Amino acid sequence: MFVPRRLRSDPDERGHFGIFGGRFVPETLMPTLLELESFYAKVRFDVDFWEEAHELLNRYVGRPSLLYFAQNLSAELGAKIYLKREDLNHTGSHKINNVLLQALLAKRMGKKRIIAETGAGQHGVATATIAAFLGLECEIFMGAKDMQRQELNVFRMQLLGAKVHAATSGSQTLKDAMNEAIRDWVSNARDTFYLIGTVAGPHPYPMMVRDFQSIIGYEARQQILHAEGRLPDLVVACVGGGSNAAGLFAHFLDDVSVQRVGIEAGGRGGAGAASIAHGSVGILHGQMSYYLQTDEGQIEEAQCISAGLDYPGIGPEHAYWFSQKLVEYDTISDKEALEAFVWLSQKEGIIPALESSHALAYIYKNRARIQDKIAIICLSGRGDKDVAQVKEHLG
Ligand SMILES: *Cc1c(COP(=O)(O)O)cnc(C)c1O
Repeated sequence: MFVPRRLRSDPDERGHFGIFGGRFVPETLMPTLLELESFYAKVRFDVDFWEEAHELLNRYVGRPSLLYFAQNLSAELGAKIYLKREDLNHTGSHKINNVLLQALLAKRMGKKRIIAETGAGQHGVATATIAAFLGLECEIFMGAKDMQRQELNVFRMQLLGAKVHAATSGSQTLKDAMNEAIRDWVSNARDTFYLIGTVAGPHPYPMMVRDFQSIIGYEARQQILHAEGRLPDLVVACVGGGSNAAGLFAHFLDDVSVQRVGIEAGGRGGAGAASIAHGSVGILHGQMSYYLQTDEGQIEEAQCISAGLDYPGIGPEHAYWFSQKLVEYDTISDKEALEAFVWLSQKEGIIPALESSHALAYIYKNRARIQDKIAIICLSGRGDKDVAQVKEHLG
């Protein structure tokens, strides 16, 4: 049965991964974070918690997800390509793993209400889904501008029984929604759990979300050993905040024979959404990490084709892995991601999320280097949500 594992890169007791991470929050939030930290420390390796989690991950999410041997991609590239099919999970991406487990934790803590912020709406929809399933009250904060752009996801959340609040300050996008969610949390912490959607935020969130998503790597490792009798040469995942990548890499970090590659969105050029390639060290959302920001430290909006990678920062553990050269990071442009979207659709009959298409594009682009190698690509989500957008781009 899956239980998270300690990593050598686990943060210290104040949440630092080297110089990154930490807990940069208003004093009023500290008791709440300490309560969460000590509660999580109790369940992290608790068999009773993981038995319940395991049962729900199987019965509701549909785990374990397939490790699919992509025969046509493999033949074309002259390598063995495996796809970890998180797109087959209930609601169509890896996000549900983390949301289910945090909501289960919230219930055990006696919280009745969960709140979350969302940019494009994908994390909001996953949160509203699990709230409905577990009978929790759910309120989602979303930038007013994002609500207009993502009308259908707003309706999905409402359909699932969640209340969606418009954040009308500032740029009316993700970081404003984040501010409002934190403000709500400060005033309602007694009965409210703040559910973060990626490996970011103040300690213990980055470690906790990585633990929750590490079921991806846990399964993939067993599945590849079963299929090939050996470890892969390469594991690749796209990086927004970095949760699907952290989850996959967590079980391959100690293997010197395995190359780990995280792919940031390069957009149409410029900085795109590539915080490691084009950002600098700063503090946002309670943690120190890499951000796209101006020389004065103003956070800049990320710009790329896929909503799920459109985050101007990256989780602190990735910043640490980058600094220690434990993981390589590379960027893929909008154009390359679009080509990979079509490539997988036509070669394997699988329409990938635009986010995941960035990871696929990397293996296509580097095909000369991966001859005869075994690679696992995290297919973080399905692409149905992206079809209309791709149609516009391809004209
Ligand atoms: C949200 C999302 C991502 C990016 O989030 P990470 O935390 O970096 O994993 C990637 N793929 C899909 C399908 C998503 O919905």
